[in-house]
Amino acid sequence: MVEVKLMQQILASNDALAREQLRQLNRHGVVGINIMSGPGAGKTTLVEKTVAALKDKWRIWVIEGDIQGDIDARRVIAQGVSCTQINTQGACHLDGLMLSAVFPSIDLKKIDLLIIENVGNLVCPAEFKLPVHYNITVVSTPEGSDKPIKYPLMFTKSDVIIVNKIDLLPYVDFDMMQFSRAVRKLKPRIPIYAVSLRSGEGVSKWLSWLEDKLEKFCRKKSGTRS
Ligand code: MG
Ligand code: ZN
Repeated sequence: MVEVKLMQQILASNDALAREQLRQLNRHGVVGINIMSGPGAGKTTLVEKTVAALKDKWRIWVIEGDIQGDIDARRVIAQGVSCTQINTQGACHLDGLMLSAVFPSIDLKKIDLLIIENVGNLVCPAEFKLPVHYNITVVSTPEGSDKPIKYPLMFTKSDVIIVNKIDLLPYVDFDMMQFSRAVRKLKPRIPIYAVSLRSGEGVSKWLSWLEDKLEKFCRKKSGTRS
């Protein structure tokens, strides 16, 4: 029982931190997204493609969460945007406390979009609230279509689902119907975008979803300025 209580306290203080950080984003009209998936589903590639497509129009900052190393941050910086690497030193998710260490170094006045790439893990990243408006979950076809049944919280907490590596569909057992049905049982109206980040197929639908959000926030931003 003590453990349960302690865990609830950790989550409660994390939520309070994340709420305060989110208020800072809102004050500056910045859209925050949190990208989650198991290892190797394509989070960093999604960040790279998103940054490449949008960076000339929108000002983007990326936070990369990894247990160790800066391989992913280097890939993002190579796209020409600012990126902060958080090494969790063993922790399998990002939380508000880790983010509060890097938040002051991000000039929120100079960005429109904050992309947070969480640690590769389909379990606890869903339990720790981050300062974002939208949670994105990426699943790749080689992982199998049973993920929403096995890790329901991840999907319940998500606002968009991206199914990556559809170019591999002929070679793997991934049942798109089973997958969509299982997801929609948890979240009836959630957008599911089937993409190949490698070939670019389907990516434009994801990009228009995101740009739509950016434009809405941007209108609010200019509204509060005048
Ligand atoms: Mg990555
Ligand atoms: Zn964790």
